[in-house]
Amino acid sequence: MRVAVIGAGMAGLACARRLAAAGLAPVIFDKGRGIGGRLATRRIDGLQFDHGAQYVTARDAGFAAVLRDLQATAAVGLWQTDAGAAHWVGVPGMSALARGLALGLEVRQQVQVTSVRKAAGQWLVAGDGWAETFDRVTLTVPAPQVAGLLGADHPLVARLQGVAMAPCLTLMAASHAPAAFHAESDPDAALAWIAADSSKPGRPDGQTTWVAQASPAFSVAHLENDMAAIVARMLPLLCDRLGLVRGQISHASAHRWRFARVTSALGLAFLDQDGALFVGGDWCLGPRVEAAWISGDAMGRAVLNGC
Ligand SMILES: Cc1cc2nc3c(=O)[nH]c(=O)nc-3n(C[C@H](O)[C@H](O)[C@H](O)COP(=O)(O)OP(=O)(O)OC[C@H]3O[C@@H](n4cnc5c(N)ncnc54)[C@H](O)[C@@H]3O)c2cc1C
Repeated sequence: MRVAVIGAGMAGLACARRLAAAGLAPVIFDKGRGIGGRLATRRIDGLQFDHGAQYVTARDAGFAAVLRDLQATAAVGLWQTDAGAAHWVGVPGMSALARGLALGLEVRQQVQVTSVRKAAGQWLVAGDGWAETFDRVTLTVPAPQVAGLLGADHPLVARLQGVAMAPCLTLMAASHAPAAFHAESDPDAALAWIAADSSKPGRPDGQTTWVAQASPAFSVAHLENDMAAIVARMLPLLCDRLGLVRGQISHASAHRWRFARVTSALGLAFLDQDGALFVGGDWCLGPRVEAAWISGDAMGRAVLNGC
């Protein structure tokens, strides 16, 4: 049985691993240059930033076991924050966690899927100038992007109407000044999360690298600004908080996540049509990498149940 998995984020990887463990050879398509989706690490001029998910929680026993396995290969480690808490992070960056899960899987990177259609009892997965047929398809793109692939009038799309996702503007900055703290969270501040990325385990030696995430309100208000304008707004806020002046900042850039975090989840692990087309991702259960893993793993099991 041929299965296509659209998206190499945590949900797609969890689904594909479940299928591969049962002897199938799923084909994963991802439009991105890297593997991991929002589990992401950006490298710029020798600097490194986790500009998406900051750390991973593991309340689910199955997901905790996956992380322990990755820890044995040094692809994840524990990050001690100021609050005394220890959080799972990818090593040397968050994307390493995803790459560790992708080992042995067929991932077609930089391949954008533009449509998924039923054709003669199979599923036609198509992109720009190519098309391939599969027996089953699992879609793990953010909920607001499902309609673009299935068509706005697809019955599964109507069932996604209650799902909502908020954007997040993220600032990446570096300085030679030492970090005064590892992480700070204040949901009422314009910069709702500030982390010294370089305080995570296994990061490159050298400068202190910072990641600051704007609050949902700030992100919505400035979402369409160009990157230079976003940096110009966020950097002074970060400098104020760190007690630095602009001249002490050696690098500053920004990233716009249009669909960063789920604010209203579906409440089910996934949706399917006739046990052949599946849609899932973090937006099914909540705004966490762990939720994406649970959804993807559940989709993989459901595909196998129908075999
Ligand atoms: C700034 C930020 C901070 C966060 N912080 C945390 C945190 O600290 N802890 C935590 O647990 N979670 C955090 N999250 C949430 C977490 O990152 C997500 O819940 C999780 O990574 C979602 O995984 P996913 O597989 O469902 O989706 P994604 O990671 O979005 O994966 C979807 C994949 O589909 C691909 N794709 C989309 N459309 C197409 C197409 N047409 N064709 C081919 N490929 C396509 C994308 O390239 C992407 O790789 C954060 C998210 C953001 C953005």
